[in-house]
Amino acid sequence: MNEEVLKVSNIEKYYGRNGNVTKAIDNISFSVEEGEFIGIMGPSGSGKTTLLNCISTIDKATSGKIFVAGDDITRLNSKKISKFRREKLGFIFQDFNLLDTLTVYENIALALSILRVKSSEIDKRVKDIAKRLNIEEILKKFPWEISGGQKQRVAAARAIVTNPKIILADEPTGALDSKSSKALLESLNDLNRDLNATILMVTHDAFTASYAKRILFIK
Ligand code: ADP
Repeated sequence: MNEEVLKVSNIEKYYGRNGNVTKAIDNISFSVEEGEFIGIMGPSGSGKTTLLNCISTIDKATSGKIFVAGDDITRLNSKKISKFRREKLGFIFQDFNLLDTLTVYENIALALSILRVKSSEIDKRVKDIAKRLNIEEILKKFPWEISGGQKQRVAAARAIVTNPKIILADEPTGALDSKSSKALLESLNDLNRDLNATILMVTHDAFTASYAKRILFIK
C-alpha cells in the first residue's frame, strides 16, 4: 500500500465572531496517498482556498486535525511550522510568486540553499528539473524576461526541486492562456507520473481539473 501523505480529519473553519460568523469550511475529511494527483473543485466561496491555506499552515483550522506524513500539523509551534513548510511542501500560486531580482536558476535554487544543500548538488538538481520542464534555455533570464507560461513552469520546478511530500497548487492555470495552461498541466502530469509527485490542485476550471486523477468536490 502507498504511504498516506495527507489526512484531513473533520476540519472546520469559521471566520469572524460575535454573531457575525462565516463558516468557510464545514467538516471536511479526506486522505491522499503518495503519488496521487488530486483536483479540488467547488463553486466560488465554497472554501477551497481556505482548505489549502489550512493544509499549508498559512491559516489555522478552527477544529479538526491535519496530518502530513503522519505529523499533526495543527499542533506545530511557529518554529516547527517554518521547518515543515520548507521541508515538506511545494507551492504553486496563481500569480507565480517568483522573486523578480533573482534569475530563473536562482529562483529554483533558493529553496535548496535554504535547506543547506551543497552547491554542486543544487546545480545538478536545478539542471535536471529544468530539463524536465523544458526551461533549460531560460535559466539565466529574469522573471520579467519570460512569458507567463514559462514563469509557471519555473514555479513548478521550484515546487518540486526539494522533493516535497506534497505540492499544493492554487488555481495554477488561472493567469495562463489555454496553450500555456495545457503545457503546464502536461508538465504537472509528467512530474506526477515520472517522479511520483503528490499534487493537490485547487481549480474551478473543468479542463484544468481533467488532468487530476481524482477529484474532490466541495459543496
Ligand atoms: P473559494 O476558494 O472556494 O472561492 P474561500 O476559501 O476563498 O472559497 O472562501 C470561503 C468562505 O470564507 C467565503 O464565504 C469567504 O467569503 C469566507 N472567507 C474567506 N477568507 C476570509 C477571511 N479572511 N475573513 C472572513 N471571511 C473569509
